[in-house]
Amino acid sequence: MVEKLHIPSRQKREEAIKEAGYNIFLLPSDAIYIDLLTDSGTNAMSDRQWAAMITGDECYAGSRNYYELKDKVKELFNYDYVIPAHQGRGAENILFPVLLKYKQNNENAKNPVFISNFHFDTTAAHIEINACKAINSITEKAFDSDTYYDWKGNFDIENLKQIISKYGADNIVAIISTVTCNSSGGQPVAMSNLKEVYEIAKRHNIFVVMDSARFCENAYFIKERDPNYKDATIKDIILEMFSYADGFTMSAKKDALLNIGGLVSIRDNEELFTLARQRCIPMEGFVTYGGLSGRDMAAMVQGLEEATEEDFLHYRISQVKYLGDRLRDAGIPIQYPTGGHAVFVDCKQIVPHIPSDQFPALAVINALYLHSGIRAVEIGSLLLGRDPSTGNQKQSYMEFMRLAIARRVYTNDHMDYIADSIIGLKHVFAKLKGLVFEYEPSVLRHFTAKLKPVD
Ligand SMILES: *Cc1c(COP(=O)(O)O)cnc(C)c1O
Repeated sequence: MVEKLHIPSRQKREEAIKEAGYNIFLLPSDAIYIDLLTDSGTNAMSDRQWAAMITGDECYAGSRNYYELKDKVKELFNYDYVIPAHQGRGAENILFPVLLKYKQNNENAKNPVFISNFHFDTTAAHIEINACKAINSITEKAFDSDTYYDWKGNFDIENLKQIISKYGADNIVAIISTVTCNSSGGQPVAMSNLKEVYEIAKRHNIFVVMDSARFCENAYFIKERDPNYKDATIKDIILEMFSYADGFTMSAKKDALLNIGGLVSIRDNEELFTLARQRCIPMEGFVTYGGLSGRDMAAMVQGLEEATEEDFLHYRISQVKYLGDRLRDAGIPIQYPTGGHAVFVDCKQIVPHIPSDQFPALAVINALYLHSGIRAVEIGSLLLGRDPSTGNQKQSYMEFMRLAIARRVYTNDHMDYIADSIIGLKHVFAKLKGLVFEYEPSVLRHFTAKLKPVD
């Protein structure tokens, strides 16, 4: 599909950002030229996916497309049990309360905790809504954006062990391996790290969930960077990755090349699956559609297949790297190496005069929008929010402007426009001002907050 792009006038952009309370989530799409807000649900579907949609079996229970999806999950991941969901957070809403209940039925989990390399924002929110704690244990190397490291999505294994012994394995509801690690810059997790985490979890009888929105991009990085896998196929790598988890949640709006959709899957624990199915019915819908139409599931089966093609992944990761290289060559600091789905510009270095509680990355994002009609997104203090128990701003080590690239949508000419726009802003960085709240929601505040520039 081809869509008309247009550049709104400078005056229109100024009015739109003011109207949006300086929060780019509140901009209407007709005020935007190039949209780098997210790679979620912004994928262009293929001819084959559209063709598959015509084969949708729209019956309430037992749709043929559900069984095809179940077969695809078995083929790619070797997991037996599948529940569709309308998107990733729908999957989290089914699985996490069920894992908590299961843990509490079997062990004395009085102070329940989830541990992840880094919890995605909605993932942390679902954990906190269930009165559990979400603790991140990411490698220190992720915080040093300038220095090359292959696996900036890895768990810090020593830290993980310490957290387990501090809280006690009885209290650890699950370990969540997020592939790739969105919050550290779309950075991959090494196969050896996934394996080690899984071995530790098994020693302590802890369930492991793969948060698998970008599982194919992670598999591609493993093939590129780990010599043990240079001759392996992407599908082989995926099979091994998922052998180091007991279940997964998936936002199918990312690598699975859909506009909407998600999955919960459990490898072989039938008791958990039964609990999850019970929860699916009031929350997402009957167990064979879970908030999706038959045609959505048909597009997912085809999307999962296309997402694992090495040629496609090569083009995808190379395009993102091209943008990262252009910025880096011009002296714009980025999380290096470039991640899978986005370039993360390090705003701590660009606007060091703006304190973290005045959201340095948001100041840069607003300036970029005004300058060129490009919409980026903040991955930093605004996104991280407050600690629910103390009400204090959570300490963020990273203040990123994320430039997320939709799959199969933009060309490298667009990448050049984006790079030129950011490079063209260099002389104004020192003059930018931070932002303060006019309205601050209590949960997932970044989506609907309103702010204003400080005087
Ligand atoms: C997008 C995402 C989610 C949530 O999925 P939605 O489809 O947006 O609800 C969870 N985890 C990760 C790592 C994600 O990128």
